[in-house]
Amino acid sequence: MEKKIVIIGAGYSGILTAKKLAKKFKKNSNVSITIIDKNPFHTMLTELHEVAASRVDEDSIKISLTKVFAGRNVDVKLDTVTSIDYNGKTVIGSNASYKYDILVLAAGSKPTYYGVPGAEEYTFKLWSYEDAVILKDHIHNTFRKAACEPNTEERRKMLSFYVVGAGFTGVEMIGELAEYVPILCEKYGINKSDVTMFDVDGLSRPIPNLPEKLSDKVAKRLDKMGVQLIMNATVSSVGTDYIELKQNDKILHNTAGTVIWAAGIQSTDVTQNSGSALEITRGGRVQVDSYLRSTKNENVYITGDNMFYIPEGEERPVPQMVENCEQCADVAAHNITCAINGQGKMEVYKPAFHGVMVSIGGRYGVAHVGLPGHFFSLPSFLAMFAKHFINIIYFIQVLGWNKIFSYVKHEFFTIRNCRSFVGGHFSNRTPSFLLVPLRVWLGAVWVFEGIMKIAEGWFNKAMLTDFFGGANSWYNSILGITNTPGGTDAVSSATTAAAEKAAPAADAVTAATGAAADAAGAVADAIGKVLVHWDILGLVKVIFVTGKDLASSTISDYAFKLDIPVMNWFVQTLILPNSGVQIAMQIFIVLSEILIGLALMGGLFTAPAAAFSLILNFMFVTTTGLYLNTFWMIFAAIAVLIGGGRSLGLDYYAMPGLKKLWKRIPLVRKLYIYND
Ligand SMILES: Cc1cc2nc3c(=O)[nH]c(=O)nc-3n(C[C@H](O)[C@H](O)[C@H](O)COP(=O)(O)OP(=O)(O)OC[C@H]3O[C@@H](n4cnc5c(N)ncnc54)[C@H](O)[C@@H]3O)c2cc1C
Repeated sequence: MEKKIVIIGAGYSGILTAKKLAKKFKKNSNVSITIIDKNPFHTMLTELHEVAASRVDEDSIKISLTKVFAGRNVDVKLDTVTSIDYNGKTVIGSNASYKYDILVLAAGSKPTYYGVPGAEEYTFKLWSYEDAVILKDHIHNTFRKAACEPNTEERRKMLSFYVVGAGFTGVEMIGELAEYVPILCEKYGINKSDVTMFDVDGLSRPIPNLPEKLSDKVAKRLDKMGVQLIMNATVSSVGTDYIELKQNDKILHNTAGTVIWAAGIQSTDVTQNSGSALEITRGGRVQVDSYLRSTKNENVYITGDNMFYIPEGEERPVPQMVENCEQCADVAAHNITCAINGQGKMEVYKPAFHGVMVSIGGRYGVAHVGLPGHFFSLPSFLAMFAKHFINIIYFIQVLGWNKIFSYVKHEFFTIRNCRSFVGGHFSNRTPSFLLVPLRVWLGAVWVFEGIMKIAEGWFNKAMLTDFFGGANSWYNSILGITNTPGGTDAVSSATTAAAEKAAPAADAVTAATGAAADAAGAVADAIGKVLVHWDILGLVKVIFVTGKDLASSTISDYAFKLDIPVMNWFVQTLILPNSGVQIAMQIFIVLSEILIGLALMGGLFTAPAAAFSLILNFMFVTTTGLYLNTFWMIFAAIAVLIGGGRSLGLDYYAMPGLKKLWKRIPLVRKLYIYND
């Protein structure tokens, strides 16, 4: 009989649980997995503040659920769950009802207002995609209206911003806003001193679960960004244009244009309303046993923010954070599999958390990370790096390459106003039509090289022994190597005599490929100068030489080679001994050069052509080496690698259609190897 698993909520923990279950029951058609969410997309809640303060585009924090589960045995239902009939094992949604054998409750959180009058009505919240977009529009409109307000007093009122809560969410929000304010001021011609920003909290320091030193750093940074921290203050009420605070028995009635509520969370309604069937505890969280099942119902598993669980030996419940979602999804999926299969040993949930990272705007962050019992703080650059890295690890699990590409694009390649920890260095753009002459020239040189090699007889006779040998002899003569073991001289004995013979073959390729072979004729009396000759752990020798004395060397006399024993072995053992293999290799190289060249000239399949151009150059660097005057080919290939054929090239016409076809291939969708 079919077993039905129903998951409520496609947030961090719901998605991961569903994906892991789909993997476990890949070959079992008797198990169905359904995931229900009120949105057709997964929201990266951890990035909401970035949208609210316009650091990244709003669409960058949405991930389509259809894409997440493409090619997987998971049925995605767009529905809002209104209640759960635990006795009848049925989830009731606005559109349909869903029978289950096993239920996973992963419906996440919503803000809690602690009964503060006016808080729910007059503050902005930040706990969903819509919240972030509404707040972003509000901030923008406020500045636009303020710019037209002639009365200074009124303008200042409009531009007073309060964030309630100085935990992670509150600090990240006010930090992001503080970074955005100067940009808005400049855009709307507003004096920065007209804007005031406050972060209020009842506790004595920001982010109290960080060590005091890091809290101090956070406070200093916020201060530097123009944020005033109001600590030890509780909000007693909020109105349309004010916030009332109680601080040390003093009541402060302050004008407030905007109040953002980031003071605390509780479980969503559907979870809290399960009160009679499940054991609901603090913040509407559900008490679970060590296998992540509800203590009152073995068929109901709770994951993510909804679970209340104090691991053995700990004093505090697991944090409502993404790392808990990731770890509990693993255990929940395993235990559900055991329960359904009726075999295997259920796992006890023993989470090990690795710390927290907080960004204060896009350029600064703090982090307290490590392994249980061994935590340390990271400097800002590394903290931001770690935060992005952790996000990427999450995306690998959820949407693979597709999401990583779009994340890196949004966070670095298209970031506005230099709001990234690497500044705007990667987001500056050059119109790609300016690359057209470079692309065509690079292609033409490859075609020329290929044709010249055909003229030299690369299709008819084995020439690689002389070619490589001549090059090696040239390097050896400069390096003063006569007969040493290893790659560089492996062919020298065979080639000293051949060096003269190598000259014509080498001449044909020097312009683009062979660094040294043309000099083979001069092997006996090379003067040369060694600039670099490093042996790195026997794995690679870095060789940089000139064939003349320094004073008379030009750029075409300097040659660079990476001498790699494995590559030498490959050439010596598999290519050179057999003239048939040599000719096959020569034909491959010549055809590659011509095809790469034509592709680049026409701007068709530019990315693979440029990538292959780089591979060929790498082959040349590791066999004959390259003259410095041909290095431009490497840099040109890098320059046209991404989108180089989209301007005045055939890719402009071919790529959109090909991309669509590619995305339709089931395996491609399943492995997420496409980008939008
Ligand atoms: C602004 C912000 C910043 C944060 N920063 C960090 C951070 O830096 N690091 C960190 O570790 N954590 C951070 N968090 C916390 C983290 O996002 C949560 O711990 C995490 O999202 C919890 O995941 P979840 O699976 O329990 O629920 P969620 O991710 O909240 O997902 C719940 C899902 O259930 C759906 N849902 C809810 N009710 C219904 C219903 N009735 N019917 C259908 N669907 C429903 C929702 O649409 C949602 O998709 C942040 C949170 C916010 C809001």
